[in-house]
Amino acid sequence: MKLEKESLGILREALDRMEEGFAGLPDAEVHYDADALRGVLLEVADRMKDNYPYFHPCYAGQMLKPPHPVARLAYMLSMWVNPNNHALDGGKASSHMEKEAVADIARMFGWESYLGHLSSGGTMANLEALWVSGKLNPGKKLLASEQAHYTHSRITEVLHIPFESVPCDNRSRMDMGALEDRLKKGDVGTVVATIGSTGTGAVDPLSAILDLREKYGFRLHADSAYGGYYVLADNLTPETAASYKRLGEADSIVIDPHKHGLQPYGCGCILFRDPSVGTLYKHDSPYTYFSSSELHLGEISLECSRAGASAVALWATQRLLPMTRGGEFARGLMKCRDAALDLYRRLEAEPLFLTMFPPELDIVIWAPKATRSSEISRLSQELFDKAATNDLHLALFSYPSKLLKDAWPDVTFEADTVACLRSCLMKPDHADWTDHIWEALKGTMQAISR
Ligand SMILES: *Cc1c(COP(=O)(O)O)cnc(C)c1O
Repeated sequence: MKLEKESLGILREALDRMEEGFAGLPDAEVHYDADALRGVLLEVADRMKDNYPYFHPCYAGQMLKPPHPVARLAYMLSMWVNPNNHALDGGKASSHMEKEAVADIARMFGWESYLGHLSSGGTMANLEALWVSGKLNPGKKLLASEQAHYTHSRITEVLHIPFESVPCDNRSRMDMGALEDRLKKGDVGTVVATIGSTGTGAVDPLSAILDLREKYGFRLHADSAYGGYYVLADNLTPETAASYKRLGEADSIVIDPHKHGLQPYGCGCILFRDPSVGTLYKHDSPYTYFSSSELHLGEISLECSRAGASAVALWATQRLLPMTRGGEFARGLMKCRDAALDLYRRLEAEPLFLTMFPPELDIVIWAPKATRSSEISRLSQELFDKAATNDLHLALFSYPSKLLKDAWPDVTFEADTVACLRSCLMKPDHADWTDHIWEALKGTMQAISR
């Protein structure tokens, strides 16, 4: 079996259980033409065959991770009610479940008091963080590293916050000397620390950034959309672990349950350490907040309608797999990192490839060996294309040449960037598939270089 279907039986049972809650209602039929529906749905199934196999361990490319079966089922189950977590009026149970799920995430960072909620994704969550920071530091600059997600430069455009990017060291992390030089000018209101960069999984040196916050005073936002859950892992290098240890000292944190938290798309999370920033959201809704004086999530969120189903799926997943150190969820993350280290060691020992630096989390980047950067880029593209025909799905990544000069002293660089290969090993199963992945990768590379 390629797609997991066994668990669907449980959905039927759970639907019957949920229906008991509405037993007092008079029957109301939902009308549809079953034949027509079936025809369309099978057409959809045919259309959906045209996808890379994101759910399978042979997909080792972009940052894509399949939802846990419990998340999938809980999401579907709640679709029969279709709650909207904007207000308690539209999403009663699911709003409470969101508050509980978010409290568990906050606790993971050591926060008992905080303000936070789910969002449609990391972009919206970061938008709220930067919006709050901009309101608290009007006119001041926002800094993020050159390897930070591009969303920060774009969001600051939307918010009219002046943006500057800070150069990186040769491991893709924000350069602390360069950061301090910018801070000395005295016009910086916010620094974004990337805790797990989208490109390479690099973790900005948070302790050093916090020391600079002491000295210069700025708001620190941690964008850990992809890397946040690694706060639970026990197999990081001491240097990376030191950054995670102090993550709770940031002023705001973004984490995406739809990246590493086993959720379907549409689930990000923003947390603020100081709950009083909630006053910045203050508004009166003429429509919605009537059912109780309790907090409606729409009162502390820029988005209005949001899928209650996302909260239900997340709550269910955290119920099944509590986010504790050493627990099953944490062990799954650690396996991802083991898989990345395993692949990296093989690449490093293989004369056909060039490597840069060991993965900090679970993303590996490398390139086919050549002496000119244009040739490296060409071979990367060829390897990417050919590997896919062998059912190994990788990703391409355009990496700045200036960060490679030390690692690749024998290469002549002819352009500002080099196309490299990138593999996000985000499925715990990847740890059991590294032999398979390696054979497919090496076999493809040998065929190309012959
Ligand atoms: C994915 C990602 C984002 C953007 O989040 P979306 O959920 O794709 O909107 C922002 N920052 C980082 C570090 C990310 O990895």
